[in-house]
Amino acid sequence: MAIEFKINDFFFPLELWRLKTSLDKSQWLPADRLGEHQSRLLKTVVSHAYAHVPYYRQLFDKLDLTPSDIQNAGDLKKIPTLKKSDIKKNFKVLTADNAPQFLPRLCRTSGTTGEPVEFLQDKPSNILEFCYYWRYWSWAGYVLGSPFAELTLYHFLNTDINAVADHAPMTNRLMLNPAQLSLKNMDAYASAFKKYRPQFLKGSPSSVFVLASLLEKKGTGTLPLKAVFTTGELLLPHQRKKIESIFQSKVLDSYGQMERTTAICQCPLGHYHINSDYGVLEIDKGRVVGTSLYNFAMPLLRYELNDTIEIPAGGQACACGRGLPVCKNIIGRSQDALVTADGRFLTNVFILFDILQNVSWAQIVQDTVDKIRIRLVRDQDFCESNLQEFKRELRLLTGPRSEIDIEYLPETALSSLLLQKYKPVISSVQNQL
Ligand SMILES: [Zn+2]
Repeated sequence: MAIEFKINDFFFPLELWRLKTSLDKSQWLPADRLGEHQSRLLKTVVSHAYAHVPYYRQLFDKLDLTPSDIQNAGDLKKIPTLKKSDIKKNFKVLTADNAPQFLPRLCRTSGTTGEPVEFLQDKPSNILEFCYYWRYWSWAGYVLGSPFAELTLYHFLNTDINAVADHAPMTNRLMLNPAQLSLKNMDAYASAFKKYRPQFLKGSPSSVFVLASLLEKKGTGTLPLKAVFTTGELLLPHQRKKIESIFQSKVLDSYGQMERTTAICQCPLGHYHINSDYGVLEIDKGRVVGTSLYNFAMPLLRYELNDTIEIPAGGQACACGRGLPVCKNIIGRSQDALVTADGRFLTNVFILFDILQNVSWAQIVQDTVDKIRIRLVRDQDFCESNLQEFKRELRLLTGPRSEIDIEYLPETALSSLLLQKYKPVISSVQNQL
């Protein structure tokens, strides 16, 4: 789910150009025309699924449905949702009988996203992903070839894990190693910025936040960029604030998944736009359900994602003029809710992190209904009374019976913590439900 600029993306310049031109137009369509555009794409993928994917052929027959029963996103409710476990059990029958013509490759989501799953990604979905990122970044002024920096672990795992930075001149991409973020290394990161002058920075919210915090502590001054793109986890308000102050630019956050069923990204006016020309997004029992419009080797219809977003009732327009629907903050992106003794689910506890100052990393872990741990990596300006205030607020939310312990982690743990998918709140109570 990233703009990877793999060389093989450029093997299909005509298709890339065609889709980018189409996406550039469809983003401005009024809601009804955008809906028609989405319905056309949906009908194509549903007909293909019925004709070539045994799983769907069987499902439709069982429900006594034909592809013509699915005319638009609303009709999708006629078929049940697809779970990760369904893909595991039905991998073979979910594969289209003509999959090879779409040049599929096997992909696997990492274990850090919860339940790992294997699926096929094909050429049309790769072209879509590339063009989607291209359009989203262009909202902040990116043109193909602009210098950009990216906090990316993969490159360094395959080359030199001890390196701080590396540069790919072909794509004008400065790769920064998130596993080497430390105060001592900040001069090296800052000089890489000064040498290659990236205009944009991409990374996970927690890794970009740590980079910004350490740069600030080191006193390197601001490093002005045109925009910062974050993805992969929940972006917390205090992280956004810090990142925007150090890089003197807006953070345009985004949401997506390797299965490429839905994509949401922020425009420069701060609204989260649902890319309805990329996939179909539905909300089912509060959770996101996505339908891919471009993956023909293994179409995923009504795929259950473990994330929560809110869509304003009646819709909301954005002053940027794009017709892509607007959603409110992504509120529960795979983070847990704390469960209180009186049965409440607290989904917004991370907001308390605004109170907590001078920590490099923090997490709330709920072990039992009455037992909560705050795990912390302190920095040198850490203040105990600040933590006490945080504890007081947390107790106010969770109730007087809750026992709140503090677990201090050493600063040396930071690099390995950042390699894991960050969850501000973990609740084994919720997970048992
Ligand atoms: Zn907008």
